[in-house]
Amino acid sequence: APLNYDSPQEIAQFLDSFGIAARKRWGQNFLINRGAREKLIDLLCLSPNDHLLEIGPGLGAMTYQAMTHQLAGVTLFEIDPAYQKILREFFSRHPHFQVIDGDVLQTWQPFIAQNNKEISYKILGNLPYNISSAIIQLLAHTPFSIAVLTVQKELAQRLMASPKSKNYSSLSVWSQCNFSIQHHVNLKAGSFYPQPNVDSAIISLTPRQPLQPQLLAILDHLLKSAFAHRRKILRHNWQNLLQGVMLALPQEEFDAILRDQNISYHMRAEEIDSETYLSIAKAIAISLE
Ligand code: SAM
Repeated sequence: APLNYDSPQEIAQFLDSFGIAARKRWGQNFLINRGAREKLIDLLCLSPNDHLLEIGPGLGAMTYQAMTHQLAGVTLFEIDPAYQKILREFFSRHPHFQVIDGDVLQTWQPFIAQNNKEISYKILGNLPYNISSAIIQLLAHTPFSIAVLTVQKELAQRLMASPKSKNYSSLSVWSQCNFSIQHHVNLKAGSFYPQPNVDSAIISLTPRQPLQPQLLAILDHLLKSAFAHRRKILRHNWQNLLQGVMLALPQEEFDAILRDQNISYHMRAEEIDSETYLSIAKAIAISLE
């Protein structure tokens, strides 16, 4: 390996030799737990036709592990200019390797759009905490076969939450409509250097049937309004629902869709499961066609 990725001392010295330190604002916590890195890569089941996309590679701890496999392509998305340079030095001799510089929230969509629609990516990331859910939302518009991610434990709980639990939110429903989500293992803060204040979890996502943009927009609108005030009933949260993407839907049709799904206006958003929300959104999309 180009660096001893298990050793906080060596990482600190290495950063020091470039006159840099791990930056909190970019969520720079390196995964120093070798077993966890191996687990992440194993979960990807890499094979020679795979094109790997890694979000936030840092100093390349997981990249190195992934590159022990033959791959059709490796693309890294890294915001820190110092790390971009280091990654190129470490890995550029590998064919089909590239680093996309900048904020992944800006660079992801253009990268996906300019590439061959036939490519199906595998995605890897020990995600920076503050933008993890924004990154997961990018994946709804990405062709991929599996994403293996490390996220804050609380985010994993929100993504996987069931109706009526305190973590159940519009993000839970949205994610469950778009992906099958699996929780693999929790990681203590000590698996990282520097140690974050929170525990993490390794999760994987596989896409369900992709939802058309119009359907996604309806689902978004429905969920944002439903969960706007958690303690209030749907009659309150949905009183101004028929605007924006749903402007053209007559009230009677919406009411009929709810009746079909056995949903009453006296229910709260948290009582409805993600499959029912998806069915409602699909019925609305059909009515609007
Ligand atoms: N993958 C490395 C590891 O496991 O040791 C580092 C993971 S660290 C939690 C998060 C990484 O994401 C850092 O390298 C950080 O610079 C990068 N990062 C933070 N915000 C980013 C953004 N908006 N776009 C791209 N990379 C970002």
